[in-house]
Amino acid sequence: MIGLLNKDDAFERNQIRMKIILASSEIVPFAKTGGLADVCGALPRELEKLGHEVSVFMPMYRCVKESKSDKFNVESTDHRLGIPIGNHVEEGRLAKAIIPGSNVTLWLVCHDEYFNRDGLYGENGQDYQDNCERFTFFSRSVMESIRILNLQPDLIHVNDWQTGLIPALLKAEYHKNPVYEKIASLMTVHNLAYQGSFVSEKMLLTGLDWKHFNYEEMEFYGRLNLLKTGLVFADAINTVSPTYAQEIQTPEQGCGLESVLQHRAADVSGIINGIDGSDWNPAVDNLIAQKYDHDSWPAGKAACKAELQKLGRLHENPDVPLIGIVGRLATQKGWSLILPVMRRWLADPNNHAQWVVLGTGDPDYHVVLSTLQQQYAGKLSVTLDFSNQLAHQIEAGSDLFVMPSEYEPCGLNQMYSMAYGTVPVVRKTGGLADTVVDASLETIGNGTTNGFSFTEFTPEALEHTLHRATRMYYEDKECWRQLVNKGMSQDWSWTASAKAYESLYQRLVTKS
Ligand code: ADP
Repeated sequence: MIGLLNKDDAFERNQIRMKIILASSEIVPFAKTGGLADVCGALPRELEKLGHEVSVFMPMYRCVKESKSDKFNVESTDHRLGIPIGNHVEEGRLAKAIIPGSNVTLWLVCHDEYFNRDGLYGENGQDYQDNCERFTFFSRSVMESIRILNLQPDLIHVNDWQTGLIPALLKAEYHKNPVYEKIASLMTVHNLAYQGSFVSEKMLLTGLDWKHFNYEEMEFYGRLNLLKTGLVFADAINTVSPTYAQEIQTPEQGCGLESVLQHRAADVSGIINGIDGSDWNPAVDNLIAQKYDHDSWPAGKAACKAELQKLGRLHENPDVPLIGIVGRLATQKGWSLILPVMRRWLADPNNHAQWVVLGTGDPDYHVVLSTLQQQYAGKLSVTLDFSNQLAHQIEAGSDLFVMPSEYEPCGLNQMYSMAYGTVPVVRKTGGLADTVVDASLETIGNGTTNGFSFTEFTPEALEHTLHRATRMYYEDKECWRQLVNKGMSQDWSWTASAKAYESLYQRLVTKS
């Protein structure tokens, strides 16, 4: 049982104790394809610590349903759902579990036909054809559950397009019912590029009046757009870093929705994600070869590096820079920069840097990386899989972590890297710009640097920056230690982020 010692903190800090609902299509440790899951797993726990009552909703996917019975302790319930989808009613029910390390209830929306599948959103690189229907069902189920479970929330916090319909249901359909009339809504954009865009006929599935299918509400260039729907109807919008909150209001990064966001500029803010310190902390990490902290990292990282070189069948040499990459194999992550540089470095017999890559995604990148791996075994290790353990081992065992994203709403891996004493090399965009301070004469001098960054989205800029980084690695050990120490001593925890969410919620709740 988790202690409720902090229950009254909210009052001491002059905060109202709020009832919050968080709806997300993925939540760690139950289901995850990306950073959205990490945020939605950690934030409810932190909000509970701050004294708030949080209920979380997620679909019941196969990965939860078929997990070993004791892993998630899922309980079935008698709560049944009858959800209108277009002109028929779909039956569902609720199961429940607890978010590990908390008392927060996770309500699982069960509907086997929709959710008992191998993927969350698709398989073999193809989205499921009925995603609009699946997430309309989920969004409506959340709305109905509020009544069925008598949750009386002050605010619903929705995340990305999968739950974008909820603010619209709240404002356009449920608002007349006293149970719902005072509920505020917040929409968090974790990645603006994924919009839930569907042919216009799918509007029928949502059950909302066709009058809302117009360019100021749910329509976007003739299609139904569920992300835009959320952006228009939510009381406030936030994204996962202050820089990305600004960037998405520009034509370059607005993915076509910049004018919608500019229109709502007064309601758009950015809150940087934290990292989950119980999961991503080298001092308590059971997945790595040797635990280490701020003082013991030289020996700890050396042991983890040796293990990673062994695991990846790399030359077992402690003195060469080991460059780690973990993430989706998607254009967004800057593979058009990484691949040419990697090729040049691997082909150069005088360049002894090693690379270890973990990722899945675009089949074209799978082919290219597999070919390179065969050609350069010993200098390059590629794992085309999703492996939490290997992700931890890479963060712990690498010297450098590369993340030259085209855009990056927040990014977690650069923060994991710094917490693990692995120096990030990033492109200065979104959350990467907000967290990594480039090593320059000035920032080295004033002790603020924790990594390397560059602006131009070109392979040359990445290569130049990697040269700067590896030169420091080889030639200036003292400075290298300074960077590692800085990253490891910074507070990347959720505490500050959760308080920022709390303030934002409070503003909305007192307004509504
Ligand atoms: P995004 O959400 O855009 O995918 P983030 O850096 O914000 O990128 O978060 C990605 C999360 O997913 C991190 O926790 C990262 O470790 C994890 N991840 C991505 N790909 C893999 C993989 N192949 N195996 C294990 N973890 C992965």
